[in-house]
Amino acid sequence: MSLTTTYDPQNIFAQIIRGDAPCYRLYEDDDVLAFLDVFPQSYGHALVIPKRSAACNILDVDTEALCKVMTVAQKLTRVIVDELKPEGVQIAQFNGAPAGQTVFHIHVHIVPRYSGESLGIHAAGKAEPAELEKLQVRLAKRIALMDR
Ligand code: 5GP
Repeated sequence: MSLTTTYDPQNIFAQIIRGDAPCYRLYEDDDVLAFLDVFPQSYGHALVIPKRSAACNILDVDTEALCKVMTVAQKLTRVIVDELKPEGVQIAQFNGAPAGQTVFHIHVHIVPRYSGESLGIHAAGKAEPAELEKLQVRLAKRIALMDR
């Protein structure tokens, strides 16, 4: 997929936004949705996406939507760091297949990094549903206190 690819409304994140596909939801408001990555590269790997922008990547997303996504990404990163206590956290955003993008609805990755633990393979290795459910519950209380 090139950087100028046409937005496909059947991509998996568009399906999640519509409620046609499930997700382990962490946060949602009118403009932004955040959920756990089901192929996590580390414990607590989360994704933040705009709900109203049919944008593939950083080139075609509108600035207002991008700002809203980044605002939630920062708040959620604070929550994840407070709860999971990683020693580091990566914020990543890929544009175009050669850059590593596999889902063509713009998104921001929050990837907690733990000392001595290497990064899992990108978009591979599905987590156990029970583990994702436990993690969702573990983060939920703090997320509920997050200001909007
Ligand atoms: P990208 O490679 O486009 O930067 O990131 C896409 C991310 O979406 C990957 O980290 C991949 O693991 C994740 N992903 C792919 N399919 C699904 C899915 O059905 N549900 C969730 N929650 N994450 C997905």
